[in-house]
Amino acid sequence: MTTTAPGLVLHTPEGTRFTFDPGALCLEFLTTGGPGALARHEVLHAPGDLASWARSSRLALDPSLLQVGAGELAAARRLRDALWRVARATAHGRPLPAEDLSQMNQAASRPPLVPQITADGARAWGLPAEGSQALSTVARDAVELFSGPLAHRVRECAAQDCYLVFVDTSRPGRRRWCAMERCGNRNKVRALRARRDTEERTTP
Ligand SMILES: [Zn+2]
Repeated sequence: MTTTAPGLVLHTPEGTRFTFDPGALCLEFLTTGGPGALARHEVLHAPGDLASWARSSRLALDPSLLQVGAGELAAARRLRDALWRVARATAHGRPLPAEDLSQMNQAASRPPLVPQITADGARAWGLPAEGSQALSTVARDAVELFSGPLAHRVRECAAQDCYLVFVDTSRPGRRRWCAMERCGNRNKVRALRARRDTEERTTP
């Protein structure tokens, strides 16, 4: 599920909204929090939070149609943290952590969401849909991404203080930033300032 999508609306620490499309469903899941220092971004506190994410993600699943139990919420956090470690290992060319891969494979072995097509040609999901199915769909997407031809295009945003991970699906393959409107622009401003400072120092 690496097709284009509207992207997720995120907020900077200063509260500015920006749109982030990481290029794959499984990477969209990483925006819900994560292990270690990423715990401060945790948004999966109650079962309904997983359903809310499923709506804003490229699954575009109506949250009222997704049944999530407390056990599935805990499984969601475990899968997400495993995906983080696999994503970072992939981005940095390190060996993939075996325990996390087995977590991912286990989630992928469950029945996934069932895609359906409506009379007007739109995609919908078969019902009832359960949390473990959504997690299986995410895990299967991760298997495809990390074992597929775009695995070497999985990158961390080039900004020093940005933790976001994306897959560069562009033809030229030169994407550096989570979003131009966020880190891309900040970098431009910084580069401009640095150039001005150098010019001021070298101008007699
Ligand atoms: Zn960034």
